[in-house]
Amino acid sequence: MTHIYNFSAGPAVLPKEVLAQAAAEMLDWHGSGMSVMEMSHRGPEFMSIYKAAERDLRELLAVPDNYKILFMQGGGLSQNALIPLNLLGHKPEGATIDFIHTGSWSGKSSKEAARYAKVNIAASSTTSVPPQSEWKLTPGAAYLHMCTNETIDGVEYDFDAGVPAAVDGVTLVADMSSHILSRRIDVSKYGVIFAGAQKNIGPAGVTIVIIRDDLLGKALPICPSAFDFKLVADNESMYNTPPTYGIYIAGLVFQWLKQQGGVAEMERRAIAKAQLLYNALDASDFYETRVAPANRSRMNVPFYLKDESRNEAFLAGAKARGLLQLKGHKSVGGMRASIYNAMPIEGVQALVDYLNEFAGQK
Ligand code: PMP
Repeated sequence: MTHIYNFSAGPAVLPKEVLAQAAAEMLDWHGSGMSVMEMSHRGPEFMSIYKAAERDLRELLAVPDNYKILFMQGGGLSQNALIPLNLLGHKPEGATIDFIHTGSWSGKSSKEAARYAKVNIAASSTTSVPPQSEWKLTPGAAYLHMCTNETIDGVEYDFDAGVPAAVDGVTLVADMSSHILSRRIDVSKYGVIFAGAQKNIGPAGVTIVIIRDDLLGKALPICPSAFDFKLVADNESMYNTPPTYGIYIAGLVFQWLKQQGGVAEMERRAIAKAQLLYNALDASDFYETRVAPANRSRMNVPFYLKDESRNEAFLAGAKARGLLQLKGHKSVGGMRASIYNAMPIEGVQALVDYLNEFAGQK
């Protein structure tokens, strides 16, 4: 049978070991006689699952003690509304939120935020992260929002170059949905980090929010209670029923990550996989990429066939070789290979072999 490699942007490939363990534990979790899906979220069994997941994520990301980790619902897009609803309570009417626009997701975030506050696009490009020295920040802005890896456009912040740098008195809010756990991060630079689970964490339905303690308790009165970060934090993510099965799978992914060597090891692998793929794309005059090299995403690699009339043939040939879900997002066209933590380098090598083979057929 052809080996399948799934390049979906999300929901995306999960570690086989995690899926196998979940399958083995499906009907009877650890002798409890129940599936995790059937457990009370407040019972000792699920509480032990929850606490281990929280502890492991805290360890993996080196989250400082003065930050809470929330397991919420609603996905990344909900956070575009929930963050203003939760942070603007102590701000004057007409507060401004600054945005760095680097692609579709930061663009969507700014449009949603405009329902709650004034929005200033402090810098904009969809092929690079504009140098931080050129960001036109608003003095006294409520916070500064960025998407540190644009899943559709393939633009990633260069943390190694110190971007973003902390700015005195400015709360940084980062959407890390599509590269969380793929590289080391300095959590202490940020006020809020959020991420939908369905790329590097687990199944869709869980949203992780990491928030500094002093930012809790600043919600607008109209913020729905079940989405008030302080209430969620005070109730250990159990103010309402959390997405229990998704948290369980996320917890298994965290255990897997620790066994593999943690985030530093994921980063080493991500660099190797991304280099392999970008080198192959660069070496061929059959393909093109559009993102500035310093901001090429290690997780989402958009690329184009120079002869776009060959797109369908390319995708059909890929599918026949077990290389799935390579079609680019409809808003930008072309192709996209998402190579998250659970994508082995063998999958990237299989894609590179196919890229070369297809280019040779012209
Ligand atoms: N932000 C980023 C960076 C994303 O990639 C996505 C989904 N692909 C979202 C936000 C939206 O997430 P959701 O569909 O879970 O609301």
